[in-house]
Amino acid sequence: MSKATKSAKIFCIANQKGGVGKTTTAVNLAAALARLRQRVLLIDLDPQGNATMGSGIDKRTVAASVYQVLIGESSIQDATFRSESGGYDLLPSNRELSGAEIDLVGMEQRESQLKKAIGQVTDQYDFILIDCPPTLSLLTLNGLTAAHGVIIPMQCEYFALEGLSDLVNTIKRLYANLNPELRLIGLLRVMFDPRVTLQQQVSAQLQEHFGDKVFRTVIPRNVRLAEAPSHGMPGVEYDKSSRGAKAYMEFGKEMIRRVKKM
Ligand code: ATP
Ligand code: MG
Repeated sequence: MSKATKSAKIFCIANQKGGVGKTTTAVNLAAALARLRQRVLLIDLDPQGNATMGSGIDKRTVAASVYQVLIGESSIQDATFRSESGGYDLLPSNRELSGAEIDLVGMEQRESQLKKAIGQVTDQYDFILIDCPPTLSLLTLNGLTAAHGVIIPMQCEYFALEGLSDLVNTIKRLYANLNPELRLIGLLRVMFDPRVTLQQQVSAQLQEHFGDKVFRTVIPRNVRLAEAPSHGMPGVEYDKSSRGAKAYMEFGKEMIRRVKKM
């Protein structure tokens, strides 16, 4: 089968907890997959626009964004930009997107607008990644309705474990109706510091409870990953030899292996 007739695998990076590493994972997984010669579209579905800025696109100056696509004012093609620093395509976001919640409420099939738009370009990519906001809002619902699977980045802390079963159940319960295809792809341990005993314990508990739903790759806490966005670059490109970049490259390879089994 030729590559052009295949359609993309679509993944949400989601966790209703804030600041757990969703955007860092979305941007760096996109860049890692691009370096592994995959055709990637990254969709920024968060009004904060962090994935947009971290991809080297100025969220304040884009002519069209995911907002216009969701409300039917722009085609997805017209709102898609090239991230030169990341090597992938980007559907950007900015503050305007916070209004989408209100605009969508009155629309029919309000939770499937992103899915409808993505349908137009799915044959042009191998992977489509969606960076979700830290909420279980209508925006996140649009992401989850459009996706084949969810990747949950998490820190190995006590409270992370506590909230996790809620999140997993929410995904199963709420979204099974809207999107029967949706699967939990895996839990990604991020900002990991092996010197912290509690983190080791939580990590072991995760593996016990979730088995092979825990990705093998572990992303370490690494300052280079945190510095990269201020340079408009994914960490994977900003400092290729850093431990963080290497870990995300490893994660990219793990995702490609997983997708082959899907
Ligand atoms: P939000 O919920 O606000 O969207 P988020 O889940 O997308 O947040 P990020 O923005 O990716 O989280 O990360 C939160 C902060 O932690 C950022 O300052 C980021 O640079 C930093 N960070 C993320 N991953 C790492 C890491 N592996 N090592 C060091 N710093 C990290
Ligand atoms: Mg984010």
